[in-house]
Amino acid sequence: MRHCCQFKADDIYYLYETAVYTTRKLSVGFCPICKKPIAELYKVLFSGTVEREYFIGISADNIIHKLKNEINYSASKSNLSKFKSKPYGWKYGENKSAVIKGKERIKQYACDFYGNKEIIKTI
Ligand SMILES: [Zn+2]
Repeated sequence: MRHCCQFKADDIYYLYETAVYTTRKLSVGFCPICKKPIAELYKVLFSGTVEREYFIGISADNIIHKLKNEINYSASKSNLSKFKSKPYGWKYGENKSAVIKGKERIKQYACDFYGNKEIIKTI
């Protein structure tokens, strides 16, 4: 992947085929220089034409959220099955309110796109 310099993706998500694209993969990572999240969407049309789109910062987050239901499998899922029960790959935060002993508390979770969830803290 490329932003301020060339760097290795943290994870690669392979997306389902569509009527238009034979291959779609989404590489995600953080630029080691400016620390911004970067997503690269690589798509191959049935005609063989390759399309690449880059998403930087908040738009990288947005594209991953948008495509999360289209993920077939990821590189980390096939390589790192030992982390199965904990969130891995690209994580996002989720807040849930809960009433504990009559008081409203916010539970913060880290989630991944495979349904794994880990509580980070309760406030
Ligand atoms: Zn950068």
